[in-house]
Amino acid sequence: MNLSEFSDSIGFISGSGSIRSTELSETPPLCSKCGRRPSIYYRPYSGERLCGPCFKESLRERVERTISKYDMLRFDSRVAVGISGGKDSLGLLHMLKDIEGKYPRSELVAVSIDEGVSGYRNEAIAIATEACGRLGVEHHVLSFRDLFGVTMDGIASEPRELSPCSYCGVLRRRALNEAARRVDADRLATAHNLDDMAQTTMLNVLRGDMNRLALMHPGGNKLPGFVRRVKPYCEVPERESTLYAYLMGFRFQELPCPYAPEAMRNDVRGFLNRMEEKRPGTKFIVYNTALKLTSKRKVITVANRCQKCGEPTRGETCRVCQIMEELAKVHHSDS
Ligand code: SF4
Ligand code: ZN
Repeated sequence: MNLSEFSDSIGFISGSGSIRSTELSETPPLCSKCGRRPSIYYRPYSGERLCGPCFKESLRERVERTISKYDMLRFDSRVAVGISGGKDSLGLLHMLKDIEGKYPRSELVAVSIDEGVSGYRNEAIAIATEACGRLGVEHHVLSFRDLFGVTMDGIASEPRELSPCSYCGVLRRRALNEAARRVDADRLATAHNLDDMAQTTMLNVLRGDMNRLALMHPGGNKLPGFVRRVKPYCEVPERESTLYAYLMGFRFQELPCPYAPEAMRNDVRGFLNRMEEKRPGTKFIVYNTALKLTSKRKVITVANRCQKCGEPTRGETCRVCQIMEELAKVHHSDS
């Protein structure tokens, strides 16, 4: 999809969310920021109309503000950026590369996790490698196969209790932390956008999971054994992340993973998108409510070490080891 097809599909220019034929023949209003160039994007939650350069600039300023608001980076941080090859993570990489220029003692390194989803992840990693080459950023890939001896294709093909994403999420969190440790990073930046954060808030509420809600802080928690995770894209709506990627003109993967996200997240995504359309700003409100709740909770500590692998955990055995045990049992009963 190119920018004009994408713009047609979601109606960037119109204030109502769709472009009417009469509007297409009219000259778009001028940008509310520079007042010189024609606007290409209407931002419903602020009422601004922005031209391409002012839109990119405003998004970069927002990410910089988020970084300083949550004290995400230090002047000499070595930041591992988790990149999947999708629009969000490559957009974040471009922005951090730009911002890094202001901090000469900081370092940026990209890490990708290969979950082993054939026909999907290989293409994404090739795109990620190409982007890193262009930006001159060191890139490391760590695979589930090397780290755990399994692939998502293997897990998905076996009988199992949970959705593929439930396994993938746990293993990928561990793999990303391990990748960040291996490159000696003191920060791990991931590209969760505002939509991801609002959806996760709702999912945690629907599941009654207060602990996960408390861990949602975008500035990350200082936990022993974990590289501090930061989410500089947490206030960037998905729609704006997509527009940024198109305007920057970098290639990104558009194919969805064949193990589609869980049904409940899809329901929540649909609900939030409908609410946002009716009441612009809903996603910010949902996410900010989670932040207010997390500030009232005591800081989560991870005091134990897993009896099997020695990684930090709240129980006796970590989730990764529980999953590996479950998979070994299924495999054993098959053979
Ligand atoms: Fe993993 Fe699910 Fe994402 Fe696919 S959609 S990469 S299985 S979390
Ligand atoms: Zn373990």
